Amino acid sequence: MLTAMPTAAPSPSPQATPVSRGRGDACPGTLRLHTADDGALARVRVPGGVLTADQARALGIAARRLGDGDLHLTSRGNVQLRALKDGCGPELARTLDAAGLLPSREHERVRNVVASPLSGLDGRGLGDVRPWLTELDAALCASRAARDLSGRFLFALDDGRGDVSGLGADVLVRAVADGGAWLSPGAVRVSAGDAARAALTAAEVFLQAARSQGARAWRVSELALPEGAMDRLVRQRLEAEGIGHEECPEPVGAASGPAPGVLDGAVSVHVPLGRFSARQWEELTRVCDTELRLTPWRGVVLPTAGAAASRAAGTLARLTATGLVGDPASPWLRVGACVGRPGCAKAHADVRADAAGALDATGGPGLPLYWSGCERRCGHPRGDHVSVVATPGGGYQVSTDRAGQNPRTVSVRDPSRVSAALTTSTS
Ligand code: SF4
Repeated sequence: MLTAMPTAAPSPSPQATPVSRGRGDACPGTLRLHTADDGALARVRVPGGVLTADQARALGIAARRLGDGDLHLTSRGNVQLRALKDGCGPELARTLDAAGLLPSREHERVRNVVASPLSGLDGRGLGDVRPWLTELDAALCASRAARDLSGRFLFALDDGRGDVSGLGADVLVRAVADGGAWLSPGAVRVSAGDAARAALTAAEVFLQAARSQGARAWRVSELALPEGAMDRLVRQRLEAEGIGHEECPEPVGAASGPAPGVLDGAVSVHVPLGRFSARQWEELTRVCDTELRLTPWRGVVLPTAGAAASRAAGTLARLTATGLVGDPASPWLRVGACVGRPGCAKAHADVRADAAGALDATGGPGLPLYWSGCERRCGHPRGDHVSVVATPGGGYQVSTDRAGQNPRTVSVRDPSRVSAALTTSTS
């Protein structure tokens, strides 16, 4: 499964050159649509992946009425609507606003927050990140400075289990055993009550550092600062803001995302290639009592606290009957793909269809597999994986990317032979 390989966030390199871009951040949102080959695309930010049942229904209606009906999950637990009708922007904004999904027009693209999906549900974290999520989102939307964050800047709220800590967030808050929170950048412990404010402060320090370098950096890793300088700047600012903190070593321990199935306090399903059909989304909203949580690993978690085991099993059965994945051994958990044809003009192939066709060759446990429509490899996973890249001639290049090893690459001219190449590459 793609989730099984948490990796550390990249550190700012002491030798790095400040990134200075000639154009602004073109990341799509709900007010700034992106023009794709299959029509306009909207990216709806869903902090922590949390949607109320009513919000989920509103999104489904918007997808059916204005787009192609499908909902696409991103690697940050956000939702994309595709193939939107020309001129539908105002109606989309009204629909999302009415559902509470557009709390601030000026901040709609900067509400990028991932959070431990099972926090507060299965009793396994060191704290519940939901209060932090609510506070951070409110603080972001109230911050004039935060409007200048890029649509790529990412916050992560980890309940201590170490699942979202490995997603390379720019600002990480992680629950620690004594009830406080570890903050990075800063490398300090703050109180749980200060966690959200400290996270926003760290983001504001980033903006100030980027401005002072005259750079249009979108991510913390793009700043050219000596090692440890960002941590020191954050500590100074925390001091100035009166936010108590003490230096603290980085918490250890990593976990993968929720496995599909009936879990303690939740039902979890995986969404093949992150794409919900209209029918799957509709069924999801029918079985959702109060809220659902989209995960950064293309899954969804439904809280079931207090529900009888038979009811949870029934919920899982209804979802898997629509094609969502409830089996933790399913090969779908290891397979990802970019949008490919027909959505992307650069794609050389319909990689999603080809990935589905080669699923049987994916086999059991092994490296994650990522299919790309061209050599850009948008969205490819961090860490070791098998890369399947469409080539202009109609074939694929299959290569194994492992840290510290030269990639092994096989070219396959006939797409139907990709399965055979995968059988050797994924083992
Ligand atoms: S990898 Fe290539 S084909 Fe796929 S979405 Fe990116 S640009 Fe498009």
